[in-house]
Amino acid sequence: MKIFDTVDQLRMHLGNKREGVLGFVPTMGALHQGHLSLVGESRKRSDTTLVSIFVNPTQFNDPADLKKYPRDIRKDISLLSGILAEDDILFTPDYNDLYSREKDFSLDLEGLDLVMEGKYRPGHFSGVVRVVKLLFETVEPDLAFFGQKDFQQLAIIKKMVKVLNMDTKIIGCPILREENGLAMSSRNERLDPQTRKKAGIIYSALSKYCKVKSPAELQQTEINIIKEIEQGGDFRVEYLEVVDSESLNRITSSSVINTGLNFFACIAVYAGDVRLIDNTEFSFQFIKG
Ligand code: AMP
Repeated sequence: MKIFDTVDQLRMHLGNKREGVLGFVPTMGALHQGHLSLVGESRKRSDTTLVSIFVNPTQFNDPADLKKYPRDIRKDISLLSGILAEDDILFTPDYNDLYSREKDFSLDLEGLDLVMEGKYRPGHFSGVVRVVKLLFETVEPDLAFFGQKDFQQLAIIKKMVKVLNMDTKIIGCPILREENGLAMSSRNERLDPQTRKKAGIIYSALSKYCKVKSPAELQQTEINIIKEIEQGGDFRVEYLEVVDSESLNRITSSSVINTGLNFFACIAVYAGDVRLIDNTEFSFQFIKG
């Protein structure tokens, strides 16, 4: 793989050889199998794969979280060299180089950024949109791969590309999980082994939504799930919401259900001071028939 750490170097390289499909996987590093599954998907569907590693300060609403975010570039390079081909690319820009190129823009996300993660991490999605836009303008990818783990982020990036009329196709990829069901995350490294084991309760409890037959059961299901998780260890549920996959509108017991939509139960949980998110897709059994 080729490694570039400045925008100019990367642009020069890409300018020289723009042929075939360019697939892009943006990450913040501390790579795990979840990230690598995105890279694998890009390798399958693109002629060249470009992975970026950039811990983006503008998306951290909590400076302590940014400071504690795990970083291990040597391990990341070693993992990527096992999966990327000789002509694939790793891009590791720095803050000033990237952000000095930013131009003013405004983007109406139609409220997608105001619920769930947006509500509890004010400013988070504005930072995500800023960096992904800058990276897309730098890389100009044909395809970009994002994990369903960050379900709301994926919905927002799709909206951004549509509203700004960008030429990149966004591909959502499934969530990879640890053996106990815990969604893989760079933040899992900060959990002590016992908590990491116990945190499997988040996904097993969330899976209760698969058995829900109608919206009337949502409220009790939510109460049961929160109780199960919070009794399962040092866990505190920050939010648990069922939303539709497009508007991210919350589905409640009295909602009128549009049968054409999928539903996602989205959760954020504090395990001590480590914040974990997860989600699961389901449909109401009575609609399925
Ligand atoms: P991050 O480094 O956390 O910004 O994640 C980079 C990309 O990897 C994002 O598109 C995430 O949604 C995706 N990702 C993170 N964890 C997982 C996972 N467990 N399974 C699949 N994709 C993931």
